[in-house]
Amino acid sequence: MTSNDPSVGLPTRRKCGAMEVHRRLLTESESYRIARSEIENQTIELESTGAAAARGLARIPVVVHVVAHTQEQNISDAQIQSQIEVLNRDFRAANADMSTVPAVFADLVGDAQLEFFLATADPLGRPSNGITRTSTNVAAFDQGDGVKFVESGGATAWPAERYLNIWVCQLSDGLLGYAQFPGGPVATDGVVITHTGFGTVGTAAAPFDLGRTTTHEIGHYLNLFHIWGDDGTGCRGSDEVDDTPNQAGSNGGIPTFPRVTCNNGPNGDLFMDYMDYTDDAGMVMFTKGQVARMTACLDGARRQLWTERHEPEPGLPRVEAPAGQAPATGTSASAIGQPTVVTSRSGRMDVFVTGADGAVHHKWWDGSGWRPSQDGWESLGRPEPAPRTAWHPGDGEVAAAPSDMSAAT
Ligand SMILES: [Zn+2]
Repeated sequence: MTSNDPSVGLPTRRKCGAMEVHRRLLTESESYRIARSEIENQTIELESTGAAAARGLARIPVVVHVVAHTQEQNISDAQIQSQIEVLNRDFRAANADMSTVPAVFADLVGDAQLEFFLATADPLGRPSNGITRTSTNVAAFDQGDGVKFVESGGATAWPAERYLNIWVCQLSDGLLGYAQFPGGPVATDGVVITHTGFGTVGTAAAPFDLGRTTTHEIGHYLNLFHIWGDDGTGCRGSDEVDDTPNQAGSNGGIPTFPRVTCNNGPNGDLFMDYMDYTDDAGMVMFTKGQVARMTACLDGARRQLWTERHEPEPGLPRVEAPAGQAPATGTSASAIGQPTVVTSRSGRMDVFVTGADGAVHHKWWDGSGWRPSQDGWESLGRPEPAPRTAWHPGDGEVAAAPSDMSAAT
């Protein structure tokens, strides 16, 4: 692979895969169709009651999964931090380039009241910097979700109810990123961003080096559609937001105000909105209506994401003796070995630990809670070797030694 490979060349025009993923899931999955219908109904209900408006600041825990085929793609912690900082300006309407919004649109600007932070604990409650690193032999990923599974060269999602999963990798064919709307499978929930469109330093490359691809994709993740309504270039599509002007198709580059389509003059398209397709420097705002829609999502489908965060995190298997097993000493930690975790494509997570009695004990996360119970374990007897795992929290994910990285071709 070289930088001249057209499949991994730098994007010159924004291209997002979220709607393709949305349509694929609508086609494939009845449960997604049902969930989407329920979420839209719930959105209308929450927006109309205005109950969500009093929420105040919500803090969203983020895990960034860096999946790298080359050393360059193994982006720095600083590049990741630069992206978090962009999000914390854009979702507070605190970005300096907000000043470029034409005066006629100034009243539309909304503050989403969101703050993002790298998770400080992994799914088992261990200290973490909120970053996982995985070496892959996949030269470039597409919107088919391969980056989200170990068996296809990617990295496993952390429980999507409690973390915003962001995968950063090389995407192919100029794709900048894609997101999964709320209501989809937990194992693939989150956003994927090509490394050259992520953050503001390191490998971030113009004209997508201001971190706006991630802002845009998190907009989808919080249930926003593209501002033109995703009907090609017609004037009938809707983004389900009342205060965004009707607009024909997507705008690219950095348009000149006003840009009139669909008889939306004199002010024209709100092309400086994050949910259009302009260059990073051209998108600077969400509207109040978009904020209301995101807020409804955060009070509905994604409520657990910001309401159930504690230290140590709740719902985690505690390192203590299973029921009926007396700890060997006064400290429960000595009764049990290190947990082993196995994740599966369906989003299920199995945890195995060895008790003081030498038996293996098991509990599992089924997507909504721990089984057999929050604190309970089932005994698998002894001796029973713990299955080896696709993923060990806290030990750096799949081996990512620099020698492996440089040897990859
Ligand atoms: Zn998009």
